[in-house]
Amino acid sequence: MQRQYWSTRLQTNFSPEQLADPHVAESEQILRKCVHCGFCTATCPTYVLLGDELDSPRGRIYLIKDMLENGRAADRETVTHIDRCLSCLSCMTTCPSGVDYMHLVDHARIHIEKTYRRPFKDRVARSVIAATLPYPKRFRAALRAAGLARPMAGLLKRVPWLKTFGVMLDLAPAALPPAAARPEIHSAKGARRGRVALLTGCAQPVLRPEINDATIRLLTGQGIEVVVTEEEGCCGALVHHMGREEQALKAARRNVDAWLKAADESGLDAVVITASGCGTTIKDYGHMLRLDSAYAEKAARVSALAKDITEYLADLDLPEQAARGLTVAYHSACSMQHGQKITTMPKELLKRAGFTVRDPAEGHLCCGSAGTYNILQPEISAKLKARKVRNIEATRPNVIATGNIGCITQIATGTTIPIVHTVELLDWAYGGPKPAGI
Ligand code: SF4
Ligand code: SF4
Repeated sequence: MQRQYWSTRLQTNFSPEQLADPHVAESEQILRKCVHCGFCTATCPTYVLLGDELDSPRGRIYLIKDMLENGRAADRETVTHIDRCLSCLSCMTTCPSGVDYMHLVDHARIHIEKTYRRPFKDRVARSVIAATLPYPKRFRAALRAAGLARPMAGLLKRVPWLKTFGVMLDLAPAALPPAAARPEIHSAKGARRGRVALLTGCAQPVLRPEINDATIRLLTGQGIEVVVTEEEGCCGALVHHMGREEQALKAARRNVDAWLKAADESGLDAVVITASGCGTTIKDYGHMLRLDSAYAEKAARVSALAKDITEYLADLDLPEQAARGLTVAYHSACSMQHGQKITTMPKELLKRAGFTVRDPAEGHLCCGSAGTYNILQPEISAKLKARKVRNIEATRPNVIATGNIGCITQIATGTTIPIVHTVELLDWAYGGPKPAGI
């Protein structure tokens, strides 16, 4: 009886008019793949924490189905449970039926953004985030101001409609590294054996410019020319996850133009990305722009070029280094392991570079960073952070390594163990400076 239940695919009842919308047609195909087995619930961080079916992937799938099928505006209950989703994509790794939850929840978020009027304080907070974080100059200025206002964080958090701003102040670092201008071309050392474009990112160069420095040094040292195009900008992931589709597509088009110009001028082997959250989105540009006849093909080309830095380095066959006597806890960002399915490569590179690597327990669970989640859902985010830090500290590492700036910022506020980007350790092992804090 149970087997029969599991083998029954979700029935949908969309009208032909509804299915004429390609977004609805795609979501219908995704929904019909779900066999309601519930395997995904066990690995969903919000279900593990809250125990509510509506905060599980299966529950959210039902809510989305009901909202889209009835062609109705999003209601408060649906928005609450979709907002609590981290988009960590752990459910996609677990699902035996291949349900494409990522594109389903993306569609749901766009529908929510178009049809639901959030309370005034939420609208203001979201608009401030969308107008600040994706732009390095504005983000830097905002962090400077936040640093001055930081003593007020506790007070703001006690006022319900100012709470989000109090959380933002809490997350702002006490000091910022200076802004560094970058030349457009970083020449290969010795004989050139490759050429890549590097996404420098929006938040990352403001919070931790050392990551791009290490990447450029390591790549050029291995004979790879690195191009940093002036025209590139934020990948669009932050606003994409807020359902602000037009803003996300605008960012995607801008980057597609920038990188294809570099590719067509002098050739590119890859677009290298050092933040896995951005990598997941850029690898999805082809899908995001599939309905744009002017960009569909170009975006698919860029997605095919996109590589996480560890994917690119794995192909360079870096030489094995002597043991360094340093234990690294490797935190696999959700966007790395679930979004891009990159699991062993970063650890193999670290081991080859002479580090001892440990895997923390519950490695599949999100640290609670998830783009802007730690600002918009601070309570759940804090619980996930505490759980993640407990598991990491249990491995007794000298240092934590990960491949996503969001996770670095999140985990750093919960532990005294130094945390760095994987590429900073690799750069050190292959001749670069020792990362600060180790
Ligand atoms: S999303 Fe996948 S794992 Fe979850 S209930 Fe549906 S078929 Fe099962
Ligand atoms: S993306 Fe993550 S939080 Fe959202 S439903 Fe899937 S497992 Fe749960």
